[in-house]
Amino acid sequence: MISFASEVKNELARGEGDGECCRRAELAALLKTGATMTLGGRSGPGLSFSTENAAVARRVLRLLKDEGAITTEITVSRALRLKKNTRYEVRIPPQPAVGRMIEELELLPGSAPTPGRGFLKRSCCEVAYIRGAFLSAGSVNRPGAGYHLEFVSTSYQYAEFLLNLAEKLSLPARLTDRKEFYIVYVKEADAIADFLNMVGAEQAAEKLEISRNVKEVRNQVNRLVNCETANLQKTADAAARQLNAIRQLTGEGKAALPEKLQETLEARLANPDASLTDLAEILGITRSGVNHRLRKIVEMAENM
Ligand SMILES: [Zn+2]
Repeated sequence: MISFASEVKNELARGEGDGECCRRAELAALLKTGATMTLGGRSGPGLSFSTENAAVARRVLRLLKDEGAITTEITVSRALRLKKNTRYEVRIPPQPAVGRMIEELELLPGSAPTPGRGFLKRSCCEVAYIRGAFLSAGSVNRPGAGYHLEFVSTSYQYAEFLLNLAEKLSLPARLTDRKEFYIVYVKEADAIADFLNMVGAEQAAEKLEISRNVKEVRNQVNRLVNCETANLQKTADAAARQLNAIRQLTGEGKAALPEKLQETLEARLANPDASLTDLAEILGITRSGVNHRLRKIVEMAENM
């Protein structure tokens, strides 16, 4: 079964392209998080973008095309071992244009893009950038498996940059580390749904919302059942208290009770497990009438 994260990525990667400014921002994020520099001797460096998602690889190719005359190659490495996924590699062989891209898209290793400038000047581009980062370095849990969305980076500086970008986009993100990786993550279901809607994964966002509602209803039912159980327990406790009191009323004490109370007392003794509603039916009076009489009996028994 395809993971929810892949589902989200497929939806995003197949989504309509944005304006030119945003396409650049998204490409910058995809390459920053998913590409490595390759050495190219005299013709300068090359780039190699790697992903397990075919739709993401196609999107990178499409975005590279917008950058002008850049030669690209795509290779697919099939899984040779179990549990290893197919990898798609988009290679940009060494060529003069790569140097310019590395500079303009701020791809140099050990650096993070400058907020508020270049491809991060507009807020539409900030959204496109974080979409690109998610496509290459992001993951999200299946609805119902605990709410968690994350971006993984090997650089603390870059993780911090993503954290700030997320905060700027009103996502309550946090930063932690796991082995040699830095993780920027979001735990709130609302925020994850907002993120998915914001970057254009509306179907995925809806799936999450539906599963949330189901979960909420289930929680409500559980609360009601618990409440009902608590009430039953209360009823049982009250009945036990009454029976104790009533059993102490013997002979004279009992005879001293008004007829109506005696009648109620007999009904209670004969039906120790009955609820007030049941007793009301047996005695042909209201529930609150039964309650009142029983309280009276307990009171008298305790006073004797
Ligand atoms: Zn834009």
